[in-house]
This record gives sequence, structure tokens and C-alpha cells, in this order.
Amino acid sequence: MDKNFETLLKYQEYDIKLKRLLDTIERSDASKRMEQARTEFNIAKKTVQEDEKEAEKVVAYYEKSAPQLQELEKNLDSIIKSSEGNDNIAALIEQLEILKGKVIALEKKIIECKTSSEKILKSYQEANAIGHKMLSYFNSAKTIYNELIKASEPEISALKKKLKALEPLIEIETLKKYKEITKENKYPAFVEVRFIDGTYSCGACGLQLSQKNTSTLNENGVCTCETCRRVIFKRQ
Ligand SMILES: [Zn+2]
Repeated sequence: MDKNFETLLKYQEYDIKLKRLLDTIERSDASKRMEQARTEFNIAKKTVQEDEKEAEKVVAYYEKSAPQLQELEKNLDSIIKSSEGNDNIAALIEQLEILKGKVIALEKKIIECKTSSEKILKSYQEANAIGHKMLSYFNSAKTIYNELIKASEPEISALKKKLKALEPLIEIETLKKYKEITKENKYPAFVEVRFIDGTYSCGACGLQLSQKNTSTLNENGVCTCETCRRVIFKRQ
């Protein structure tokens, strides 16, 4: 066992305190509201982007229909010109009817365009308003969040300072192991063995130690839990 094992345990104690403090801030209402506002903002942003794309399509269609309308006007001019001195009224009417059909079809498409552009504009404006609202929600939640951090800052930096001071006193391998386990969010990483009814079990997950692990523990004072991979120690 690391001769400075007690130092590691002290280190662990401060580290858990620090973690609890940071967790409290992360789980605060302000933090949750920031997260919600961020999510809503991103949804609104996506809608705005989609509406912009749709609007581009509508604009392209409008641009396409302008020359089509000119073409129909030209057709009308030529029908009028050809009607001068033309006695075939029936043929003339037929040409005009065909042209009328084309004008109505184009008009219908332009009305559809207008309706969808109104819809897009409405959706765009709504999403934009939500986006701005969420941004302001986010900022006010962030102000409270920052105040929380500021209020805990002296305690946070005091704990960090203590941890830093202890680090060089712990064996490198032991510290490395500690950091590996806590990286997986397992706190405490080092646990004392539990001794009940003559059997040893892990102080964290409760699993009974194997024969092999029991002798490792008795020999070295430490072993690794076969289930949760925490370091189990036994005070001599
Ligand atoms: Zn365990």
C-alpha cells in the first residue's frame, strides 16, 4: 500500500466536496433554465433557416413567372394584330380562350406563391421572436448562474488549492488510478473494505470479494473490486 495512502484519502475528501459544490451549481434552476433556453433557441434558429430556404424557392418561382406573363402578353398582342381584317371570329375566340386558360393557370400559381410566402413570413417572424425571447431568457439565467459561481468561488478555489498542494505527496500511480476511476464519475473511488460475518465485500457496490481478491487485500492492503473497479483498501 502507498505509504501516503491517508493523504490520498484526504485528497478524495476534498475532491468529493468540490464535486458536490460544482454539481449543485450545475443542477441549479439557473443552469436548467440556461439549457432549456439554449434548446428552444436552437429549434427557433432551425425554423428560421428552413423558412429562409423556402423563401428562396418562392422568390425563384416569382422570378420565373414574370417572363411567362410577358410571353402571354405578347401572345395577346399577336392575336389582336391577326384579328384585324380577320372574319374568322370563331377561330379568334378559340385562341383567346386558350390564352385565357393559360393566364388563369399562371394566376393560380402566383396566388399559391403569395399564400405560401405569407405562411413562411409568419413562421419566420414567430421563430425570430422566440429566438430573441430565448436569448434574453438565457442571458438572465446566465446572470444568476454567474452569481452562483461567484458566491461559491472562494470555496471552489480553496478546495482546488488544497488538492493541488496534496497532489505531489501522493504516489503517481495511486493518483493516476484515482483519476481514472473518478473520470467515470465513480465517487468515492477508493473505499474501505466492509467486513461482515467473516466475509469481505466492496464498500461501494457491496460485492463479496473473491478468495483471490481477499488474499491480495490481506497482502497489499488494497485490491480492485471485480465489479465496480474501485480500489478497496483495508486499514492495517
Ligand atoms: Zn465494488
